[in-house]
Amino acid sequence: MNERFVELKDRLAEIHDLRRAQEVLFWDQTVMMPPGGGPVRGAQLTTLDRIAHERFIAPAIGKLLDELGSFEDGLDYDSDDASLIRTTRRDWDKARRVPADLAAEMVGAGAEAHDVWAKAREENDFATFLPHLERALDLKRRYIECFDGYDEPYDILLDDYEPGMKTAEVRTVFDELKTALVPLIAEVASSDEDDGFMKGPFPIDAQHETSLRVIERFGYDPQFFRLDLTVHPFAASSGTQDIRLTTRYTDHDLTSIFTAMHECGHGLYEHGVSQSLERTPLCHGVSSALHESQSRMWENIVGRSRPFWNYFYPQVQAAFPEALGDVEQERFYRAINRVKPSYIRVDADEATYNLHIILRFELEQELIAGTIALKDLPEAWNARFEEYLGIPLPSDTVGVLQDVHWSGGGFGYFPTYTLGNIISVQIWEKVLSEIPTLPAQFEAGEFGELHEWLRSNLYTLGRKFTPQETLERVVGSGIDAKPYIGYLREKLGALAAA
Ligand code: ZN
Repeated sequence: MNERFVELKDRLAEIHDLRRAQEVLFWDQTVMMPPGGGPVRGAQLTTLDRIAHERFIAPAIGKLLDELGSFEDGLDYDSDDASLIRTTRRDWDKARRVPADLAAEMVGAGAEAHDVWAKAREENDFATFLPHLERALDLKRRYIECFDGYDEPYDILLDDYEPGMKTAEVRTVFDELKTALVPLIAEVASSDEDDGFMKGPFPIDAQHETSLRVIERFGYDPQFFRLDLTVHPFAASSGTQDIRLTTRYTDHDLTSIFTAMHECGHGLYEHGVSQSLERTPLCHGVSSALHESQSRMWENIVGRSRPFWNYFYPQVQAAFPEALGDVEQERFYRAINRVKPSYIRVDADEATYNLHIILRFELEQELIAGTIALKDLPEAWNARFEEYLGIPLPSDTVGVLQDVHWSGGGFGYFPTYTLGNIISVQIWEKVLSEIPTLPAQFEAGEFGELHEWLRSNLYTLGRKFTPQETLERVVGSGIDAKPYIGYLREKLGALAAA
């Protein structure tokens, strides 16, 4: 074995350990820690982050990467070792361009803005949040200036979540989706007068048991997974064998079952990364959109399908006799798939959700380009919202102030949610063409063959290839909105016609 390669791997393993420790400390902070621990925990996380960053951008890593050029040339492109060198070179080139003081200022500004945003949202007061948003945007512009060789500035922001993806490509795919979705939603949207039973009561113990019963069928294994409570659900992990899912319960809705399926999708991806990549920077899902494609696959394509509910509905009905005892399955199925424009992105149905995202993607580009002024943002938001979703907004609380992302400088993240939806159906069609019996398997409560296909074709690759290369390997083509549009037309058209 090449000595320099061994040294690079050792260094990267230590840095990866620090990163994973951060992830577990963050999980602990949001799931276990008493609130008083906040300030000290913040300092601990910052320390770990700083040490990991300094170790990674160290010139020694760059020197090793240079020296390993000819070693890399002799390796198979697909091998773990070549992929490690190639991906690390890209990560390193990117990480060292951002000065430490700018990185620290972005973290600090985000921490300060968070509470201001939360209060502004509560009080419907965009004006108090405005200076923080101005600062966040200004820092992002300075961040973009650290890079060169891009087609448009937004590419740099997108690249943090979707490496290699270009804004122009997303715009093309989203325009196609928007053109199809706006009229489709107007056509299939319906009222919810029939859905009173969806307000419960749904006893929380039964929700927890039901969530576990569902995700255990998907591949959740208590030997490697946990499911705990938090305020904003997420999935974290310290490696492929330690997956932490989080969820939340309220007794007046059943969203927890879909949340559990969603986070389980993220967890199965991390759990399925090849163990040969453990303790390397390749030991993660490849990008935000590919990750989201898996959470949406399990939550929506599987979890909102008829075959799934043919198996699970009798159990769910038995678990919640008071709310669902005399609700027939078809009414329940229609309620969980109802398309109805609403104000809040995270509560939106499968179809309208994408218009919430496209709206944000468009406004983010205009903000970065400076073609709309920040003070005019609420007005621009409201006008576009009404244009796309057909309903006016009553306040900024349920409009421009609803999401946490911008307070933390998270520009460029939103599009990955809808890219994930689009990719989920591309992958689903590929699996289904190879295993046409999947729906029949779901009806029998069997999800193992789908899980195994995803594991061996996608999850196992980790970050060995770029997101584009990964998608190409899994489905044989690049990103394409058509399968997703077809899926929504077919599913929602059938519901509207019935
Ligand atoms: Zn997700």
